[in-house]
Amino acid sequence: MKQAVIACGGLGTRLTEKGIMTPKCLLEVNGVTILERQIEVLQHSGITKILLLLGSQSHEISSRLPNLSVDAQIEIETLVESRKMGTGGALVNALHRLDESFLYVYGDIYLDCNLTPLVNSVSTGIEVGILTRASDHMQDSNLVSVGMDDEICGFHLKPHPVGLYPRNIAMTGLYAFKKSSVTRLSVEFHSTFDLDSEGLPHLLGAGCKMEIVRNNGLVKDIGTMDRISSVTGEESITQGTMARPCIFLDRDGVINRPNGHISSIEEFELLPEVPEAIALIRRKGFRTIVVTNQPGIARGDFNWQNLESIHGFFEEKLAKKRALVDAIYVCPHHPERGFPGEVPKFKIVCECRKPKSGLFLRAFRDFPTVISQSWMVGDQISDREAAKHVGLNFAALPNLDPLHWTNSQEKPFENLMEFAKSLAPFEPKVELYDHY
Ligand SMILES: [Mg+2]
Ligand SMILES: [Zn+2]
Repeated sequence: MKQAVIACGGLGTRLTEKGIMTPKCLLEVNGVTILERQIEVLQHSGITKILLLLGSQSHEISSRLPNLSVDAQIEIETLVESRKMGTGGALVNALHRLDESFLYVYGDIYLDCNLTPLVNSVSTGIEVGILTRASDHMQDSNLVSVGMDDEICGFHLKPHPVGLYPRNIAMTGLYAFKKSSVTRLSVEFHSTFDLDSEGLPHLLGAGCKMEIVRNNGLVKDIGTMDRISSVTGEESITQGTMARPCIFLDRDGVINRPNGHISSIEEFELLPEVPEAIALIRRKGFRTIVVTNQPGIARGDFNWQNLESIHGFFEEKLAKKRALVDAIYVCPHHPERGFPGEVPKFKIVCECRKPKSGLFLRAFRDFPTVISQSWMVGDQISDREAAKHVGLNFAALPNLDPLHWTNSQEKPFENLMEFAKSLAPFEPKVELYDHY
Protein backbone atom coordinates (compact mmCIF):
# COMPACT_ATOMS: atom_id res chain seq x y z
CA MET A 1 0.00 0.00 0.00
CA LYS A 2 1.49 3.32 -1.09
CA GLN A 3 -1.38 5.82 -1.00
CA ALA A 4 -2.97 7.84 1.77
CA VAL A 5 -5.98 10.09 1.25
CA ILE A 6 -6.43 12.94 3.72
CA ALA A 7 -9.79 14.69 4.08
CA CYS A 8 -8.89 18.35 4.66
CA GLY A 9 -12.38 19.75 4.13
CA GLY A 10 -12.87 20.53 7.82
CA LEU A 11 -13.62 24.21 8.39
CA GLY A 12 -12.78 24.26 12.05
CA THR A 13 -16.39 25.06 12.89
CA ARG A 14 -16.11 23.69 16.40
CA LEU A 15 -13.20 26.05 16.98
CA THR A 16 -14.89 29.27 15.91
CA GLU A 17 -16.15 30.11 19.40
CA LYS A 18 -12.52 30.74 20.29
CA GLY A 19 -12.07 32.94 17.23
CA ILE A 20 -9.86 30.52 15.31
CA MET A 21 -10.75 30.05 11.63
CA THR A 22 -7.66 28.25 10.35
CA PRO A 23 -8.45 24.98 8.54
CA LYS A 24 -8.05 22.27 11.13
CA CYS A 25 -5.24 20.50 9.29
CA LEU A 26 -3.10 23.66 9.49
CA LEU A 27 -3.46 24.06 13.24
CA GLU A 28 -0.13 23.72 14.95
CA VAL A 29 0.64 21.43 17.85
CA ASN A 30 4.10 21.70 19.37
CA GLY A 31 5.10 23.97 16.45
CA VAL A 32 4.17 21.49 13.69
CA THR A 33 0.96 21.55 11.65
CA ILE A 34 -1.33 18.57 12.03
CA LEU A 35 -0.92 17.92 8.29
CA GLU A 36 2.88 17.81 8.43
CA ARG A 37 2.74 15.50 11.41
CA GLN A 38 0.27 13.20 9.63
CA ILE A 39 2.44 13.00 6.53
CA GLU A 40 5.51 12.19 8.61
CA VAL A 41 3.70 9.38 10.45
CA LEU A 42 2.22 8.02 7.19
CA GLN A 43 5.66 7.95 5.59
CA HIS A 44 6.95 5.82 8.46
CA SER A 45 4.49 3.08 7.49
CA GLY A 46 5.55 3.04 3.84
CA ILE A 47 3.17 5.60 2.33
CA THR A 48 4.73 7.53 -0.56
CA LYS A 49 1.72 9.22 -2.20
CA ILE A 50 -0.68 11.63 -0.53
CA LEU A 51 -3.98 12.77 -2.01
CA LEU A 52 -5.40 15.79 -0.21
CA LEU A 53 -9.15 16.25 -0.51
CA LEU A 54 -9.69 19.98 -0.20
CA GLY A 55 -12.86 21.82 0.65
CA SER A 56 -13.91 25.43 0.50
CA GLN A 57 -10.82 26.81 2.23
CA SER A 58 -8.58 25.10 -0.30
CA HIS A 59 -6.61 28.23 -1.30
CA GLU A 60 -5.23 28.62 2.18
CA ILE A 61 -4.09 25.00 2.22
CA SER A 62 -2.85 25.08 -1.42
CA SER A 63 -0.87 28.23 -0.82
CA ARG A 64 0.80 26.75 2.25
CA LEU A 65 1.69 23.43 0.54
CA PRO A 66 5.03 24.54 -1.00
CA ASN A 67 6.20 25.73 2.41
CA LEU A 68 5.26 22.63 4.35
CA SER A 69 8.15 20.80 5.85
CA VAL A 70 7.74 17.31 4.37
CA ASP A 71 10.13 14.80 2.85
CA ALA A 72 10.86 15.51 -0.84
CA GLN A 73 10.24 11.81 -1.65
CA ILE A 74 6.56 12.21 -0.80
CA GLU A 75 4.32 12.92 -3.77
CA ILE A 76 1.44 15.26 -2.85
CA GLU A 77 -1.60 15.76 -5.06
CA THR A 78 -4.83 17.61 -4.43
CA LEU A 79 -8.47 17.21 -5.39
CA VAL A 80 -10.79 20.15 -4.78
CA GLU A 81 -14.45 19.50 -4.01
CA SER A 82 -16.91 21.64 -5.90
CA ARG A 83 -19.27 21.59 -2.91
CA LYS A 84 -19.36 20.28 0.65
CA MET A 85 -19.65 16.49 0.39
CA GLY A 86 -19.06 15.06 3.85
CA THR A 87 -16.40 12.51 4.74
CA GLY A 88 -18.11 9.80 2.67
CA GLY A 89 -19.05 11.91 -0.35
CA ALA A 90 -15.51 13.26 -0.61
CA LEU A 91 -14.16 9.71 -0.81
CA VAL A 92 -16.63 8.64 -3.50
CA ASN A 93 -15.81 11.85 -5.39
CA ALA A 94 -12.15 10.77 -5.40
CA LEU A 95 -12.89 7.24 -6.67
CA HIS A 96 -11.05 7.74 -9.98
CA ARG A 97 -7.90 8.82 -8.14
CA LEU A 98 -7.73 5.90 -5.68
CA ASP A 99 -5.21 3.04 -5.62
CA GLU A 100 -6.49 -0.54 -5.16
CA SER A 101 -5.91 -0.12 -1.43
CA PHE A 102 -5.19 3.02 0.54
CA LEU A 103 -5.38 4.69 3.94
CA TYR A 104 -8.06 7.30 4.59
CA VAL A 105 -7.34 9.87 7.29
CA TYR A 106 -9.44 12.72 8.66
CA GLY A 107 -7.46 15.93 8.51
CA ASP A 108 -8.19 17.10 12.05
CA ILE A 109 -6.38 14.34 13.90
CA TYR A 110 -3.10 14.70 15.70
CA LEU A 111 -1.15 11.51 15.10
CA ASP A 112 1.75 9.90 16.79
CA CYS A 113 1.56 6.16 16.26
CA ASN A 114 2.72 3.28 14.10
CA LEU A 115 0.22 2.78 11.25
CA THR A 116 1.82 -0.35 9.82
CA PRO A 117 -0.74 -2.70 11.44
CA LEU A 118 -3.52 -0.63 9.84
CA VAL A 119 -1.76 -0.78 6.45
CA ASN A 120 -1.57 -4.57 6.82
CA SER A 121 -5.20 -5.00 7.91
CA VAL A 122 -6.74 -5.03 4.44
CA SER A 123 -5.70 -8.43 3.21
CA THR A 124 -7.53 -11.44 1.87
CA GLY A 125 -11.16 -11.10 2.81
CA ILE A 126 -10.90 -7.88 4.81
CA GLU A 127 -12.10 -4.82 2.87
CA VAL A 128 -11.98 -2.21 5.59
CA GLY A 129 -9.70 -1.83 8.60
CA ILE A 130 -10.68 0.74 11.22
CA LEU A 131 -8.19 2.16 13.69
CA THR A 132 -9.74 2.23 17.15
CA ARG A 133 -8.73 3.23 20.63
CA ALA A 134 -10.21 3.34 24.09
CA SER A 135 -11.46 6.91 24.23
CA ASP A 136 -11.16 9.32 27.13
CA HIS A 137 -14.49 10.77 25.97
CA MET A 138 -16.39 7.60 25.07
CA GLN A 139 -19.85 9.18 25.56
CA ASP A 140 -18.97 11.60 22.79
CA SER A 141 -17.42 9.01 20.42
CA ASN A 142 -18.69 6.71 17.71
CA LEU A 143 -18.11 3.18 19.00
CA VAL A 144 -17.93 -0.23 17.36
CA SER A 145 -18.80 -3.68 18.62
CA VAL A 146 -16.51 -6.53 17.71
CA GLY A 147 -16.52 -10.32 17.82
CA MET A 148 -13.90 -12.56 19.36
CA ASP A 149 -11.51 -12.15 16.45
CA ASP A 150 -11.78 -8.36 16.29
CA GLU A 151 -14.21 -8.53 13.39
CA ILE A 152 -16.65 -5.63 13.39
CA CYS A 153 -20.29 -6.58 14.04
CA GLY A 154 -21.95 -3.23 14.66
CA PHE A 155 -21.67 0.52 15.04
CA HIS A 156 -22.93 2.60 17.96
CA LEU A 157 -23.18 6.23 16.95
CA LYS A 158 -23.18 9.06 19.45
CA PRO A 159 -25.17 10.03 21.47
CA HIS A 160 -25.46 6.68 23.25
CA PRO A 161 -28.83 5.79 24.78
CA VAL A 162 -28.92 5.34 28.56
CA GLY A 163 -28.86 1.70 29.65
CA LEU A 164 -27.05 0.41 26.58
CA TYR A 165 -23.44 -0.44 27.30
CA PRO A 166 -21.31 -0.51 24.17
CA ARG A 167 -17.61 -1.21 24.65
CA ASN A 168 -15.17 1.67 24.70
CA ILE A 169 -13.85 0.83 21.25
CA ALA A 170 -13.93 4.20 19.51
CA MET A 171 -13.35 5.04 15.87
CA THR A 172 -10.46 7.43 15.42
CA GLY A 173 -10.94 8.73 11.87
CA LEU A 174 -8.26 6.51 10.32
CA TYR A 175 -9.14 3.67 7.97
CA ALA A 176 -7.60 1.24 5.53
CA PHE A 177 -9.80 0.64 2.49
CA LYS A 178 -9.90 -1.55 -0.52
CA LYS A 179 -11.05 0.53 -3.47
CA SER A 180 -13.79 -2.08 -4.07
CA SER A 181 -15.61 -0.90 -0.94
CA VAL A 182 -15.63 2.72 -2.20
CA THR A 183 -17.05 1.43 -5.49
CA ARG A 184 -19.84 -0.19 -3.44
CA LEU A 185 -20.47 3.15 -1.69
CA SER A 186 -20.62 4.96 -5.04
CA VAL A 187 -23.49 2.71 -6.11
CA GLU A 188 -25.54 3.53 -3.00
CA PHE A 189 -24.72 7.18 -2.31
CA HIS A 190 -24.86 9.98 -4.86
CA SER A 191 -24.48 13.12 -2.80
CA THR A 192 -23.19 14.35 0.55
CA PHE A 193 -22.90 11.66 3.21
CA ASP A 194 -21.02 10.91 6.38
CA LEU A 195 -18.66 7.94 6.33
CA ASP A 196 -18.92 6.93 10.01
CA SER A 197 -22.67 7.23 10.49
CA GLU A 198 -23.90 6.28 6.99
CA GLY A 199 -21.20 4.78 4.79
CA LEU A 200 -19.66 2.23 7.14
CA PRO A 201 -22.98 0.90 8.54
CA HIS A 202 -24.18 0.51 4.93
CA LEU A 203 -21.07 -1.46 3.97
CA LEU A 204 -21.37 -3.70 7.03
CA GLY A 205 -25.03 -4.36 6.24
CA ALA A 206 -24.05 -5.25 2.68
CA GLY A 207 -21.71 -7.98 3.97
CA CYS A 208 -18.43 -6.13 3.74
CA LYS A 209 -15.83 -7.70 6.07
CA MET A 210 -14.23 -5.22 8.44
CA GLU A 211 -11.94 -5.47 11.40
CA ILE A 212 -10.48 -3.20 14.01
CA VAL A 213 -6.84 -2.36 14.51
CA ARG A 214 -6.03 -1.10 17.99
CA ASN A 215 -4.14 2.15 18.11
CA ASN A 216 -0.67 1.71 19.60
CA GLY A 217 0.25 5.36 20.13
CA LEU A 218 -1.39 8.76 20.20
CA VAL A 219 -4.37 9.63 18.01
CA LYS A 220 -6.39 12.67 19.06
CA ASP A 221 -9.14 14.57 17.31
CA ILE A 222 -8.51 18.23 17.90
CA GLY A 223 -12.12 19.34 17.59
CA THR A 224 -11.99 21.48 20.69
CA MET A 225 -9.37 23.71 22.24
CA ASP A 226 -9.55 21.47 25.29
CA ARG A 227 -8.29 18.56 23.23
CA ILE A 228 -5.55 20.66 21.67
CA SER A 229 -4.22 21.55 25.08
CA SER A 230 -4.38 17.90 26.12
CA VAL A 231 -2.08 16.83 23.27
CA THR A 232 0.35 19.59 24.10
CA GLY A 233 0.29 18.60 27.76
CA GLU A 234 2.01 15.84 29.59
CA GLU A 235 -0.29 13.20 28.16
CA SER A 236 1.24 13.42 24.70
CA ILE A 237 4.61 12.34 25.96
CA THR A 238 3.40 9.14 27.56
CA GLN A 239 0.68 8.21 25.06
CA GLY A 240 2.81 8.84 22.06
CA THR A 241 5.77 6.79 23.17
CA MET A 242 5.68 3.55 21.27
CA ALA A 243 6.88 0.92 23.72
CA ARG A 244 5.47 1.35 27.20
CA PRO A 245 5.09 -0.82 30.23
CA CYS A 246 1.66 -2.21 30.93
CA ILE A 247 -0.27 -3.33 33.97
CA PHE A 248 -2.18 -6.49 33.09
CA LEU A 249 -5.24 -6.98 35.26
CA ASP A 250 -7.03 -10.20 35.95
CA ARG A 251 -10.77 -9.48 36.11
CA ASP A 252 -12.64 -11.54 38.71
CA GLY A 253 -11.18 -10.86 42.15
CA VAL A 254 -9.08 -7.89 40.98
CA ILE A 255 -11.62 -5.60 39.32
CA ASN A 256 -14.90 -7.05 40.51
CA ARG A 257 -16.10 -9.27 43.32
CA PRO A 258 -15.82 -12.89 42.11
CA ASN A 259 -19.50 -13.82 42.34
CA GLY A 260 -19.26 -17.18 40.58
CA HIS A 261 -19.79 -17.01 36.82
CA ILE A 262 -20.99 -13.47 36.27
CA SER A 263 -23.45 -13.51 33.40
CA SER A 264 -25.18 -10.14 33.73
CA ILE A 265 -24.56 -6.51 34.65
CA GLU A 266 -26.54 -6.99 37.86
CA GLU A 267 -24.01 -9.56 39.07
CA PHE A 268 -21.00 -7.38 38.24
CA GLU A 269 -19.91 -5.54 41.36
CA LEU A 270 -16.78 -3.39 41.18
CA LEU A 271 -14.32 -3.71 44.05
CA PRO A 272 -13.62 -0.48 45.99
CA GLU A 273 -11.53 2.23 44.29
CA VAL A 274 -10.86 0.22 41.15
CA PRO A 275 -11.54 3.09 38.69
CA GLU A 276 -9.42 5.43 40.83
CA ALA A 277 -6.61 2.85 40.95
CA ILE A 278 -6.68 2.39 37.17
CA ALA A 279 -6.63 6.17 36.67
CA LEU A 280 -3.61 6.41 39.00
CA ILE A 281 -1.78 3.61 37.16
CA ARG A 282 -2.31 5.47 33.87
CA ARG A 283 -1.14 8.78 35.32
CA LYS A 284 2.07 6.97 36.22
CA GLY A 285 2.62 6.22 32.52
CA PHE A 286 1.42 2.62 32.21
CA ARG A 287 -1.04 1.05 29.83
CA THR A 288 -3.81 -0.98 31.45
CA ILE A 289 -5.08 -4.19 29.84
CA VAL A 290 -7.49 -6.80 31.20
CA VAL A 291 -6.73 -10.50 30.58
CA THR A 292 -9.48 -12.83 31.74
CA ASN A 293 -10.55 -16.48 31.47
CA GLN A 294 -14.31 -16.64 30.93
CA PRO A 295 -15.12 -20.34 30.53
CA GLY A 296 -18.80 -19.48 31.16
CA ILE A 297 -18.98 -18.89 27.39
CA ALA A 298 -17.88 -22.47 26.68
CA ARG A 299 -20.28 -23.74 29.35
CA GLY A 300 -23.15 -21.86 27.72
CA ASP A 301 -23.80 -19.78 30.88
CA PHE A 302 -23.60 -16.59 28.81
CA ASN A 303 -22.57 -15.56 25.32
CA TRP A 304 -20.09 -13.10 23.84
CA GLN A 305 -22.67 -10.31 23.59
CA ASN A 306 -23.59 -10.68 27.29
CA LEU A 307 -19.92 -10.49 28.17
CA GLU A 308 -19.32 -7.44 25.98
CA SER A 309 -22.15 -5.55 27.62
CA ILE A 310 -20.76 -6.38 31.08
CA HIS A 311 -17.42 -5.01 29.90
CA GLY A 312 -19.10 -1.94 28.40
CA PHE A 313 -20.78 -1.38 31.77
CA PHE A 314 -17.38 -1.63 33.47
CA GLU A 315 -15.85 0.81 30.96
CA GLU A 316 -18.63 3.32 31.52
CA LYS A 317 -17.90 3.19 35.26
CA LEU A 318 -14.22 3.79 34.48
CA ALA A 319 -15.05 6.72 32.18
CA LYS A 320 -16.90 8.46 35.02
CA LYS A 321 -13.60 8.54 36.94
CA ARG A 322 -11.54 9.53 33.89
CA ALA A 323 -10.05 6.06 33.62
CA LEU A 324 -9.93 3.49 30.84
CA VAL A 325 -8.37 0.20 29.83
CA ASP A 326 -6.64 -0.10 26.46
CA ALA A 327 -8.11 -3.52 25.75
CA ILE A 328 -9.83 -6.52 27.31
CA TYR A 329 -8.61 -9.89 26.05
CA VAL A 330 -10.81 -12.88 26.84
CA CYS A 331 -10.32 -16.63 26.72
CA PRO A 332 -13.80 -18.11 26.10
CA HIS A 333 -12.59 -21.71 26.18
CA HIS A 334 -12.70 -24.59 28.59
CA PRO A 335 -11.04 -27.97 28.08
CA GLU A 336 -13.48 -30.44 29.66
CA ARG A 337 -16.51 -31.61 27.74
CA GLY A 338 -19.70 -33.21 28.98
CA PHE A 339 -21.74 -30.41 30.58
CA PRO A 340 -25.37 -29.78 29.62
CA GLY A 341 -25.77 -26.61 27.52
CA GLU A 342 -22.09 -26.36 26.62
CA VAL A 343 -20.88 -24.85 23.33
CA PRO A 344 -18.76 -27.57 21.68
CA LYS A 345 -16.59 -25.25 19.56
CA PHE A 346 -15.24 -23.57 22.71
CA LYS A 347 -14.70 -26.82 24.56
CA ILE A 348 -11.12 -27.15 23.43
CA VAL A 349 -7.61 -27.14 24.80
CA CYS A 350 -6.63 -23.66 23.62
CA GLU A 351 -3.50 -21.55 23.74
CA CYS A 352 -5.09 -18.61 25.55
CA ARG A 353 -6.55 -19.93 28.81
CA LYS A 354 -4.32 -18.63 31.61
CA PRO A 355 -1.76 -19.83 32.70
CA LYS A 356 -1.08 -20.14 28.96
CA SER A 357 0.32 -17.10 27.17
CA GLY A 358 -2.11 -16.49 24.28
CA LEU A 359 -3.89 -13.45 25.72
CA PHE A 360 -0.59 -11.78 26.58
CA LEU A 361 0.87 -12.50 23.16
CA ARG A 362 -2.14 -10.78 21.56
CA ALA A 363 -1.55 -7.79 23.82
CA PHE A 364 2.16 -7.66 22.97
CA ARG A 365 1.28 -7.81 19.26
CA ASP A 366 -1.20 -4.94 19.52
CA PHE A 367 0.76 -2.77 21.97
CA PRO A 368 4.56 -2.54 22.02
CA THR A 369 5.34 -3.36 25.63
CA VAL A 370 8.34 -2.88 27.91
CA ILE A 371 7.90 -6.30 29.49
CA SER A 372 10.59 -5.93 32.15
CA GLN A 373 8.70 -3.01 33.71
CA SER A 374 5.24 -4.51 33.29
CA TRP A 375 3.16 -6.33 35.88
CA MET A 376 0.39 -8.88 36.06
CA VAL A 377 -2.03 -8.30 38.95
CA GLY A 378 -3.99 -11.41 39.84
CA ASP A 379 -5.60 -13.39 42.61
CA GLN A 380 -4.88 -16.94 41.47
CA ILE A 381 -1.92 -19.22 40.97
CA SER A 382 -2.79 -19.43 37.26
CA ASP A 383 -2.26 -15.64 37.04
CA ARG A 384 1.15 -15.97 38.67
CA GLU A 385 2.16 -18.82 36.37
CA ALA A 386 0.97 -16.90 33.32
CA ALA A 387 3.04 -13.90 34.39
CA LYS A 388 6.09 -16.11 34.80
CA HIS A 389 5.65 -17.67 31.34
CA VAL A 390 5.80 -14.29 29.59
CA GLY A 391 8.33 -12.61 31.87
CA LEU A 392 6.02 -10.20 33.70
CA ASN A 393 6.42 -9.13 37.30
CA PHE A 394 3.58 -10.41 39.43
CA ALA A 395 1.53 -8.69 42.11
CA ALA A 396 -0.84 -10.82 44.15
CA LEU A 397 -4.19 -9.68 45.49
CA PRO A 398 -5.89 -11.68 48.25
CA ASN A 399 -7.92 -14.60 46.98
CA LEU A 400 -11.14 -15.54 48.72
CA ASP A 401 -9.68 -18.98 49.10
CA PRO A 402 -6.57 -18.55 51.31
CA LEU A 403 -5.31 -22.01 50.28
CA HIS A 404 -4.39 -20.48 46.94
CA TRP A 405 -1.46 -18.69 48.51
CA THR A 406 -0.19 -21.38 50.86
CA ASN A 407 3.06 -21.74 48.97
CA SER A 408 3.41 -18.25 47.65
CA GLN A 409 6.34 -16.03 48.42
CA GLU A 410 4.36 -12.88 47.71
CA LYS A 411 2.69 -10.94 50.41
CA PRO A 412 -0.55 -9.91 48.73
CA PHE A 413 -1.41 -6.24 48.28
CA GLU A 414 -4.58 -5.33 50.09
CA ASN A 415 -6.31 -4.23 46.88
CA LEU A 416 -5.63 -2.72 43.47
CA MET A 417 -5.26 0.80 44.89
CA GLU A 418 -2.50 -0.34 47.27
CA PHE A 419 -0.68 -1.82 44.28
CA ALA A 420 -1.23 1.35 42.22
CA LYS A 421 0.20 3.53 45.00
CA SER A 422 3.29 1.32 45.30
CA LEU A 423 4.05 1.48 41.56
CA ALA A 424 7.09 3.57 40.60
CA PRO A 425 6.24 5.95 37.72
CA PHE A 426 7.55 5.03 34.29
CA GLU A 427 9.84 7.64 32.74
CA PRO A 428 8.85 7.81 29.08
CA LYS A 429 11.30 8.83 26.40
CA VAL A 430 10.46 12.04 24.61
CA GLU A 431 11.92 11.10 21.19
CA LEU A 432 8.79 9.54 19.82
CA TYR A 433 10.03 8.42 16.43
CA ASP A 434 13.11 6.45 17.33
CA HIS A 435 11.08 3.38 18.13
CA TYR A 436 9.81 2.56 14.65
MG1 LIG B 1 -9.33 -13.91 39.33
ZN1 LIG C 1 -8.69 -19.86 25.20
